[in-house]
Amino acid sequence: MSAFRTAFEFGSRKTLGHWFPRHMGKGLRQMRALLHKVDCVVEVHDCRIPFSGRNPLLSEALSSKPHLLVLNKVDTAAPSREDMDILERRLDNEDIFDYIFTQCSPGEGGALDQSISEIIPRCVDIINRTSRYDRECDSSLDMMIVGVPNVGKSSLINAIRRKYLHKGQIQRTVAKSPGHTRSVMFRIKVCEKPLVHLYDTPGILEPGIGDLHCGMKLALCNTVKDHLLGTAMIADYLLFTLNQKKEFGYVSHYNLKEPIDDIRKVLLHIALRDRKYKVRKVLTGTGDQIVKIPDYEYSAAIMLRDFRNGDLGRFILDNLRARH
Ligand code: GDP
Repeated sequence: MSAFRTAFEFGSRKTLGHWFPRHMGKGLRQMRALLHKVDCVVEVHDCRIPFSGRNPLLSEALSSKPHLLVLNKVDTAAPSREDMDILERRLDNEDIFDYIFTQCSPGEGGALDQSISEIIPRCVDIINRTSRYDRECDSSLDMMIVGVPNVGKSSLINAIRRKYLHKGQIQRTVAKSPGHTRSVMFRIKVCEKPLVHLYDTPGILEPGIGDLHCGMKLALCNTVKDHLLGTAMIADYLLFTLNQKKEFGYVSHYNLKEPIDDIRKVLLHIALRDRKYKVRKVLTGTGDQIVKIPDYEYSAAIMLRDFRNGDLGRFILDNLRARH
């Protein structure tokens, strides 16, 4: 195999405006309006992109409130001890001292990860370090969960409720795709002692998309809609990233002979393997003809699904050793 690409080619559309609508979100406005009611803000983000995509307006809005950063889906990032050391140093450098790594999806036998037990005590600790002028006699706590879509906010709430209240899934729609906004606001009891309620819905924030690489990583983590960039483009960025990071698990996963840098070859291979074709009508000299062509869109969607399921490697997408 010849050398891999060293840079990703974004084509002629080099500015963010082409892909991502940029607007000040409803989520942030609602969150600001609620801020005075809460004692602590729990910001959930995807552990695979600890430095990409967190809404930059959030830190400004949060400066007045105790704040815990939850880096969720740590199982999909599987950081090594060395990665963890670098990650912790960088978080410290950015003055983020209150953070926690979690896995909200139940593990073997449906058991909850130990990290879930640490969230409420950590929040209580953070709140106790901050004076609560107007609520000193009241021991109950209100918290607000915020974060960009699909990082695991609902899963976190359910996991905490299962842990403390032994209750199952709360009755609400879990967003199936990023950007799906729920209209109803929820204040949910999550713990009895201390009495803790969480405000949930207003905290759906638009991702902060710094540059196109950031946008691609957000898309890989399913926090922006695939159609904004196109599945084939995201799949190509995935292949580029896998090769850059020497994560060659895809070679055996797709039964390829060797690593490949050309996305069309990988997509063709998957479409042929699964016998997925699209029918096209083409005009020839003798009239219309129906031809079958490999369904590249199908293959791209398969690659994204496999990556998001952790089948193509578990790693942190952000470059921990660089500034971005
Ligand atoms: P929300 O949009 O932020 O409320 O995200 P959800 O709670 O709906 O979760 C989005 C997707 O991520 C769902 O498919 C969850 O099952 C999955 N998910 C949530 N937490 C974890 C986790 O810790 N690990 C993994 N692997 N998946 C998770």
